[in-house]
Amino acid sequence: MIRLSKSVVGIEEANAVKNVLIKDGYLGMGKYVQEFELEISNFLSLTDKKVICVNSGTAALHLAVQSIITDNKNEIIVPSLTYLSSFQAITAAGGVPIACDVDENSMILDIEDAIKKITNKTAAIMPVWYASNPYNYDNLYEFASKNNLRVIEDAAHAFGCEINNNKIGSKGDIICFSFDGIKNITSGEGGAIITNDDCVINYCKDARLLGVKKDTEKRFEGERSWEFQVENQGYRFHMSNIFAAIGIVQLNKLKERFGKKRILLKEFYINELKNIKGILLQKYEINSLIIPHIFPIRILNNKRDFIKLELEGNDIQTGIHYKPNHLLKKFKTDYNLPITEKLYEEIITLPLHPEMSYEDIKCICSIIKKSIK
Ligand SMILES: *Cc1c(COP(=O)(O)O)cnc(C)c1O
Repeated sequence: MIRLSKSVVGIEEANAVKNVLIKDGYLGMGKYVQEFELEISNFLSLTDKKVICVNSGTAALHLAVQSIITDNKNEIIVPSLTYLSSFQAITAAGGVPIACDVDENSMILDIEDAIKKITNKTAAIMPVWYASNPYNYDNLYEFASKNNLRVIEDAAHAFGCEINNNKIGSKGDIICFSFDGIKNITSGEGGAIITNDDCVINYCKDARLLGVKKDTEKRFEGERSWEFQVENQGYRFHMSNIFAAIGIVQLNKLKERFGKKRILLKEFYINELKNIKGILLQKYEINSLIIPHIFPIRILNNKRDFIKLELEGNDIQTGIHYKPNHLLKKFKTDYNLPITEKLYEEIITLPLHPEMSYEDIKCICSIIKKSIK
């Protein structure tokens, strides 16, 4: 069987967890989290930005949204073609997701459609780097700045990727990563918020620990706050030492192997599929380095479901990223998003994880080529 995705962890992660459990003995947010934040900061070459680790990518988005919205400005323009998490995080924070269409070729937030969705309540745009593609990055930022909007990047797919020779997260406004089990790196579960906005940093640092002021600093010193103050709604969103220990090992593996391997697998796929009639590949941002988290392709002429069945019949798992959020009851819109709805009929995600081989990809692509005729 070829799996769609996979947590690639081993003895190194197990030993790191063992150290937390047996040697250190403190499972909460402590020095491992502090070290993980520092290593992320070094990896991304951050200068004025800070890293705040939390227990999921969803929690990162939730806190990011909550830190910038007000009663009068609470709308977030977000592509419907994203993981449910982006939408649920916005509503959990008290925001209103405004479902937006994507550009057909890149599958990234469409600026033309976003313009139509702006109101005097719009607080931010939330571009999603779908399949790790920071497409139109500069134009999206220019659009936001012209309209006085914040940018919260849902960069859950894009850890390790680059735009204009800078790592995603090192530039921009507020960037949110996910380290869940199958992302470019995993910490078991986890996420991070990255920004240089002091208001956002202070809010998120406290809010991850029930809103207790300056609790992060105390915990990194190995202390607890018995006398404390609370001003804002807080959550139990902090990252555990156990998760951070896994994340530290994974970050090294990304640098050494995972990154290169994912890029190579993507190139194999592109070589096999680029000139096949009836198949369209995602258009990537030129000035970028893409370390793909997933590899979605489009299959035209109503053949997607047939090919999906053929692949599954050969023990090859596939996915559909994503069911558009505006088609769900909770987020139903009174307008259509024609490109998103069309893509939803065409997209199929092919297997991609660092333990795959060139042979796996040849096998997958030969089944696709045979069945598309
Ligand atoms: C994974 C993911 C998230 C959320 O991350 P979790 O860590 O799973 O909570 C958010 N947005 C997108 C696009 C994702 O793929």
